[in-house]
Amino acid sequence: MADPGTYLDHGATTPMRPEAIEAMMPYLATTYGNPSGGHRMAREARRAIDDAREIIAAAIGAKPGEIVFTGGGTEADNLAIFGVQEAHGGDPVCTSFEHHAVLEPVEELGGRIVRVDRRGIVDLDHLAEVIDPNVSVVSVMAANNEVGTVQPLDQVAAIVKERAPRAVLHTDAVQGFAWLDLPTVAREADLISISGHKFGGPKGVGALAIRDGVALRPRAVGGGQERERRGGTQNVAGIVALAAAAEITVRDRETTNERVGALRDRLVSGIRSALPDVMETGVTDDDRSHKIPGSCHLCFRGVESEALLFLLEQHDLMASAASSCASGALQVSHVLTAMAVDDEFGAGSIRLSLGWSSTSDDVDRALAIIPEAVQRLREHSGARR
Ligand code: PLP
Repeated sequence: MADPGTYLDHGATTPMRPEAIEAMMPYLATTYGNPSGGHRMAREARRAIDDAREIIAAAIGAKPGEIVFTGGGTEADNLAIFGVQEAHGGDPVCTSFEHHAVLEPVEELGGRIVRVDRRGIVDLDHLAEVIDPNVSVVSVMAANNEVGTVQPLDQVAAIVKERAPRAVLHTDAVQGFAWLDLPTVAREADLISISGHKFGGPKGVGALAIRDGVALRPRAVGGGQERERRGGTQNVAGIVALAAAAEITVRDRETTNERVGALRDRLVSGIRSALPDVMETGVTDDDRSHKIPGSCHLCFRGVESEALLFLLEQHDLMASAASSCASGALQVSHVLTAMAVDDEFGAGSIRLSLGWSSTSDDVDRALAIIPEAVQRLREHSGARR
């Protein structure tokens, strides 16, 4: 197999688990029936979706009937915000550093935005100030996609119950699922989004868990699939692979978290000991207990992220700046702005995200490449001054 290079962009997408690829093949090649049909092959496809629904429900901590399969995380997030708002009226609320798939619907609906603190944690006092009984949905992500900070969902839920008892709580667990036990962490959430390609499943397939009793207006109608909550023929092969990836992720989570967390720690300390003026975003005193294990987010003073990523790519190291969807833009990301990161540091930020397939070799290679690249850029910008 060709050398895949040094892939440190699991936050953008992960390689598929071989078991997930294998699981989906029969539904592409031989069992291609439409799950809404009545004949043998259609029934087989429907059974495969039913089985997948049970697996996903258990992995999220929901009932099978509460799972709606979607075309990925963005669609799940959009369905949660627009769907609830259209059914309930009232204002949606989210944090200032949500993924754009939540932030844009909330902004479009004229919703309210809650601050986060410098560590990248939702400001609970501000949340309590912002919400009132006129709020329809409150959306707080399980883990942030750029800086990897885990949010205190139980505390958020308690505030929502007290200040806006009729509001529903949504959590975007797209980045969280790989690392966090959602049946525990998201137990108080009424709506939970996940996306296959962030944990070894395929792109373009995800799910929204909608707890029984939560009213939600569908965004795609016609066909009546997914109990009339999301019309359209289901992506059978994708759903089967999503479930296969979820099953392995849950089975291996504890060991993966430990192994990858240790790799991440070695990566951070290796870079920091090789270079001055490096800030680890949202972390003080090396305490990373509030971060998902795969997340390493660093800011280098005196460097521009785009130039650094370009140099890293010349050594076949793949990483990203800002969230992948927003990269290409030169301004500091909305996440770093929300966390009040100094522009001087924020302009030189990169996300090195590890995942299930990351190895010690990846870290060795990164440590051989990154400090030297940063030094080169600093010397170059010093020489231009
Ligand atoms: N939410 C978060 C936190 C994400 O990181 C992403 C993808 O980067 C999405 C939503 C969108 O998911 P998808 O790429 O499946 O549409």
